Amino acid sequence: MTHPRPLWWQEDHGAAEYARRLWQQLTLGIPAELALLLQHVGIAVEYIDAPSGFRGALIPEADVIKINRGLHRWQQRYTIAHEVGHCCVRRGEVTVRAERRERVCQVFAANLLMPADLTRDIARRYQGREDMVAYVMAHFQVSREAACIQLRRLRLLPGEMGPLETAEEAVAAMAELDHCVAADLDDATVPLFTVDVDVIYRRTNRGTN
Ligand SMILES: [Zn+2]
Repeated sequence: MTHPRPLWWQEDHGAAEYARRLWQQLTLGIPAELALLLQHVGIAVEYIDAPSGFRGALIPEADVIKINRGLHRWQQRYTIAHEVGHCCVRRGEVTVRAERRERVCQVFAANLLMPADLTRDIARRYQGREDMVAYVMAHFQVSREAACIQLRRLRLLPGEMGPLETAEEAVAAMAELDHCVAADLDDATVPLFTVDVDVIYRRTNRGTN
C-alpha cells in the first residue's frame, strides 16, 4: 500500500496536512468514507461493550481498533479516525514527540473528517446563525464537540484559542462547549474528550488573565 510522504507531526499543521493528503488520495468524500481509510491502513474495527468513559483503542498487534458500541455513530467515526492517527504514528509513517501524540491524533482526526476548506465554506454559509455548528455536525457527521473544536481551531467560532494546561481548564472548556450551540442532536453530545484533555481548546483571555 502507498502512503503520502511521511511528515513530522511535531506541529498541528503537520497532522492536518497529512490528513488532507490522505483524504484527497483516498477520495474519502463528505461525510468521509472511513471504510476506505480502514481498508487502506489494513485495520479492522470491532465494536465492543465498554464503560461510557471508554471511547476506543488501537490494538496494534491485532491490527484492530476496538470501539465502544454505546457511543453515538458520529462519535465512533471520530474515534476511529483518531485511532488511525495512532496507527500512523506507531508504524513510523509520521514522527511525533510522545507528549504531543494525543493532540496531533486529534488534529489528524478532525481534519480527516472536517477538511479545513470545506469547514470554512460551511461556516461562512451559516455565519451568525445559532444552528451553524449543527450544520457542520450534520454535514460531516461529527459530534458537537468535534465540530466546535475544529471550528475554533480554524478560528471560525468567536473567541481566542489556546491549548489547555490543566485538567480544571479542560473541565471548564467542556462546560463551555456544552453551551456553544443549541443543537437538537442530544445523543451526539456526550463529551468526546474524557481522556485526551490536552487537546481541548479553550477561550483564552487576552491581556491580564
Ligand atoms: Zn489517543
